[in-house]
Amino acid sequence: MRERYSPLISLKKGHWFKLICGASFQHLPTVRNLTLAYTLAGADCIDVAADPAAIASAGQALQVASGLQDWAKSQGFGYQALPWIMVSINDGEDPHFRKAEFDPSVCPTDCWRPCEKVCPADAIVFSEDRNTITCGNSGVIDELCYGCGRCLSVCPKQLIQARSYVSTPSSIASLVLQTGVDAIEIHTQVGRESDFQRLWKSIKPWVNQLKLIAISCPDGEGLVEYLQSLYEIISPLPCALIWQTDGKPMSGDIGAGSTMAAIRFSQKVLNAKLPGYVQLAGGTNNFTVAKLVAKGLLASENNKQENSAKNLNTYIPENRFVSGVAYGSYARVLLSPILEKLEKMHKSQLQAIEFAYGTTSIHAKELTNDSQLTKLEVLPELLWEAVSLANSLVSQIKTSDLK
Ligand code: SF4
Ligand code: SF4
Repeated sequence: MRERYSPLISLKKGHWFKLICGASFQHLPTVRNLTLAYTLAGADCIDVAADPAAIASAGQALQVASGLQDWAKSQGFGYQALPWIMVSINDGEDPHFRKAEFDPSVCPTDCWRPCEKVCPADAIVFSEDRNTITCGNSGVIDELCYGCGRCLSVCPKQLIQARSYVSTPSSIASLVLQTGVDAIEIHTQVGRESDFQRLWKSIKPWVNQLKLIAISCPDGEGLVEYLQSLYEIISPLPCALIWQTDGKPMSGDIGAGSTMAAIRFSQKVLNAKLPGYVQLAGGTNNFTVAKLVAKGLLASENNKQENSAKNLNTYIPENRFVSGVAYGSYARVLLSPILEKLEKMHKSQLQAIEFAYGTTSIHAKELTNDSQLTKLEVLPELLWEAVSLANSLVSQIKTSDLK
């Protein structure tokens, strides 16, 4: 019997594509629009911040995508099924959950502001540059910063710091119950076994509702033994398991070489033959799939992954191949010209309303609240341009066995 398509099949086939909106990324219109474009392009999983508003925005995008799926398919885009929504939780201090901060009042007035220029999220602003920012509100806009880390290294005065934060296990447990999240990713580090255990205790009561657990752990001394001990803690697992090999957490997409750390790390985890699927992240970009193919690390028509188990949920591959790739900064930056265009149009519309009705009239406020121009689907031309770009990335892993 033909298997009904689901994201799990992508894992099994080595075609899994995950979009990382970012554990720290809570700019809701962007989360919504990225989710919509990558869903229609065939993404299997959307990883959003562990924040009910971000989860709801992704959920709204999935509803819109459902209504557009036939059109997406007729255009030749990769949509096959709705992706799973994943949230990340942290068992301790971890760079996956950080935001940049600095005090703009101590910046030299003649600084050419490389921080502002390098930020892919437009999260660094200076009050005189943006009329939406009131005086004294310069610096990092917390809700836009997704912790990519680029600004930290470019400041000539080293004024920018990363501030870590942790999602609490109890808040995640209620998220899982109330929002219907499909998957959870646990971010840990070698040596944090007791933190992991504590977190797992609060997740365990809800695990039967989940389709997937992912574990993300940067490389370190004693990694394999640590991952083995985590497997002992979470076994038996009623759902699929992914080991996310985060080569360079928060590295962004800078440079062709940035993907190699993730690939080397995946080889190490594959060699450990842990039960579960292996998926790359961190430094993944336009080169990642080609490099995986060149290294023979993706299953292809010629070297099909063995699958002896009957049930996909308990399927434990031989770990010879990578099952998928997660894209963060690269995927977001790819669509940023289109999302910026949309944002500009939205701002112009708000200015026109303000010009016509003033800032205080109720009618102006109603029109402003009713503005639909934060939604990509309102402008079909922009939407399909975004889906086309997203598809150029998603299709790389989807068609990797044809290469
Ligand atoms: S460059 Fe990255 S870390 Fe710095 S403010 Fe922008 S999004 Fe945040
Ligand atoms: S690069 Fe550093 S000194 Fe210059 S504006 Fe940015 S934070 Fe201030």
